[in-house]
Amino acid sequence: MNQDFEPACRRMEWLDPFYQSVWEKAFQDAIPISGTFELTPRCNLNCRMCYVHLPAEEIPCHGRELTAAEWLRIAEEAREAGTTWLCITGGEPLMHPEFPEIWRGLCEMGFFITLQTNATMVEGKMAELLEQYPPRSAKITLYGSNDEVYEAVCRVKQGFTRAHAGIRRLMEMRIPIQLVSTIIRQNEADAQRMALFAYYYHLPWAATGSIKSSLRGAHSEAEEVRVTEKLEEAEKEQIRRRLKEHPVDITRKPCTYCKDYRLGYWILWDGSMRFCSFMNEPDISIRDRSFREAWQALVQYEEELDWPPECKSCPVSKACFKCAATLATECGSVHRVNDAFCNRVKQYYDEEKGKWKLWDRNI
Ligand code: SF4
Ligand code: SF4
Repeated sequence: MNQDFEPACRRMEWLDPFYQSVWEKAFQDAIPISGTFELTPRCNLNCRMCYVHLPAEEIPCHGRELTAAEWLRIAEEAREAGTTWLCITGGEPLMHPEFPEIWRGLCEMGFFITLQTNATMVEGKMAELLEQYPPRSAKITLYGSNDEVYEAVCRVKQGFTRAHAGIRRLMEMRIPIQLVSTIIRQNEADAQRMALFAYYYHLPWAATGSIKSSLRGAHSEAEEVRVTEKLEEAEKEQIRRRLKEHPVDITRKPCTYCKDYRLGYWILWDGSMRFCSFMNEPDISIRDRSFREAWQALVQYEEELDWPPECKSCPVSKACFKCAATLATECGSVHRVNDAFCNRVKQYYDEEKGKWKLWDRNI
């Protein structure tokens, strides 16, 4: 495939040279090398900012969860099509009613699996299962450094105590762990202690304040709990860095800015294949078609999706901190813009303009 831009996969410096060349080849041939299976919207926590979680009684209003047999059929076909890396997530994936069967089946197929979990259910039989079939790595969401903060963020009792026990159990199994935290108003003051927790256990930790509104029916409080002051600074910093290093080229299609372009996919709990889990399109159900057919439809969607017309003639498009998912969650659809979002970008651009002139006279 000829393209005149650097695909995001080339900047995946955590891959060693061998795997980088594998990913490059996959990109050229549009091989779905990396997939995410979002097993369920169920969760035993109830985080204020969550964009996926649905209470069990609401699930039928939105769709039907795939069964173990369906997941394993999809996985077989995905493996045939080239999927090697698999992320298993949710909701809390361990809450899928048939999780043990799904997990055993996926592990026996030989995928490189990352398990994304809140770690509060890693005990008893579940821990034994993971010990017998260990994931290649675990990405664990950490919401605080004590039970009080967990109660404020996740609205459950003893959340930290249980997550802490699960993390220790996975460490005993020698599973590589990465901690990730979403910072909202309720745990902002605890961020340093979370960093210390990670430091104490020598675990990598990444934190983000970026919270997207839910387009998928979850009762998210994203608007209320976002730490807006810090995000404002982060967005301005992004504008500065973007203009200096990678100005947005509006002639490139939106999906080309994502590392999953031509390489990765999400399969949601109801069987929809998506480019990104934040978006509410395209509508490609894998229930009634083969994995390959769904993947081809997804690649075609990626090639055809374009920016809204307003962006094409926008004077600040080089600086605008949007991707397809940002547009979808900020403006309600990837096909339109709204004044609130655009005015914010333009305001930040104006405020920062003087500083940029120092290093780029063309802006
Ligand atoms: S953010 Fe994660 S842990 Fe929290 S409710 Fe959602 S799926 Fe569960
Ligand atoms: S400011 Fe609005 S119109 Fe301009 S590029 Fe960003 S989203 Fe598009």
